Amino acid sequence: MVSTIKNILSQKYFSKEDIVALLKTEGDSLQLLLDKALDIKRCYVGNYVFYRGLIEYSNVCGKNCFYCGLRAGNEKVARYTVSDEEVMEAVRFAYGKDFASIVIQSGENTNAINVHHITDLIKRIRQESNHTLEITLSLGEYEEEAYQEWFDAGAKRYLLRIESSNDNLYRKIHPDDSSHRFGDRFSALKTLQKIGYQTGTGVMIGLPFQTIEDLADDLIFMRDFNIDMCGMGPYIEHPDTPLWQFRDLLLSQRERFVLSLKMIAILRILMKDINIAATTAMQTLNPNGREKAIRAGANVVMPNLTPQKYRENYLIYENKPGTDKDAGETLFEFEKNIKDAGEIPGYGLSGTSKHFQSRN
Ligand code: SAH
Ligand code: SF4
Repeated sequence: MVSTIKNILSQKYFSKEDIVALLKTEGDSLQLLLDKALDIKRCYVGNYVFYRGLIEYSNVCGKNCFYCGLRAGNEKVARYTVSDEEVMEAVRFAYGKDFASIVIQSGENTNAINVHHITDLIKRIRQESNHTLEITLSLGEYEEEAYQEWFDAGAKRYLLRIESSNDNLYRKIHPDDSSHRFGDRFSALKTLQKIGYQTGTGVMIGLPFQTIEDLADDLIFMRDFNIDMCGMGPYIEHPDTPLWQFRDLLLSQRERFVLSLKMIAILRILMKDINIAATTAMQTLNPNGREKAIRAGANVVMPNLTPQKYRENYLIYENKPGTDKDAGETLFEFEKNIKDAGEIPGYGLSGTSKHFQSRN
């Protein structure tokens, strides 16, 4: 097995069969895969791990994705939207801590008032940071006009996970209606790329009904799409969602975690110069999840800057960590995780995707 994996890793091009073999590796050959990914990361994107301050802007969502705790149908959620003043406080915190970039994430609320409101917020953040703070949006699917308006206002990065690149699986984890179409999600991602955003996507790993072949296809999808950034992590069940009924079909949380590490490592090998996040979901399933993800090739972390009082209401999955910690406490942990992984905290670095730079 070790020699097979060695052979595959020495290649320049990877077929689907190669990727499936890499996704199945264990033991010594898994270590080879992880080491190779770390080498490539250091060689192509360096030793720095970039910071994005995450603001979970609103949990108001019009959609009903079967996996997500924020789905409109979950009546147990107390809905909130962070006030502009509170957003600016988080922004000042990020700025003060020398983060060069923030992410605004939210449930999907496509009404026009909300669209223009976000535009104003983007302008204000840019102005009050002397046009230095980079803004990533992760707000879901909107019309091209909205994406363009936000881009013109100064947000230059967008994260929209495809969730699964397999249309059939996509249909199993979403309601069968016009607001949850794989084709629309794909078109939205294309539109973002066309407008000129640094475009990020990702998938959930270990979903019910998902196969290893699906995951290999997800990686190939990201390569073919030519993405600039990736945020992906394990699927984690939530009791107040329809997918909860399939929890007995799932791999163990440990297995989902290891599979996610492999996905990160393989993606790093396939797409050497993109940005890859060590996601919160990784940390949820393993106390050293962030550090391990960095060692597998991730180069971005996203400390949560959402005001404390809202955090317990942004539970997309079970046992999400950090709901009881303040930002200062968490920052110390992030720095430690990065250093323990042998890397350097990238304070003051905006961390533009190298891949984006070179394809432009
Ligand atoms: N509403 C926006 C952004 C917020 S949701 C959107 O859907 O694009 C952000 C991400 O959380 C989703 O893309 C999904 O991949 C992830 N997510 C939702 N439920 C999850 C779960 N149960 N386990 C792991 N990730 C989940
Ligand atoms: Fe809403 Fe996003 Fe959750 Fe889907 S994944 S229910 S769009 S917040």
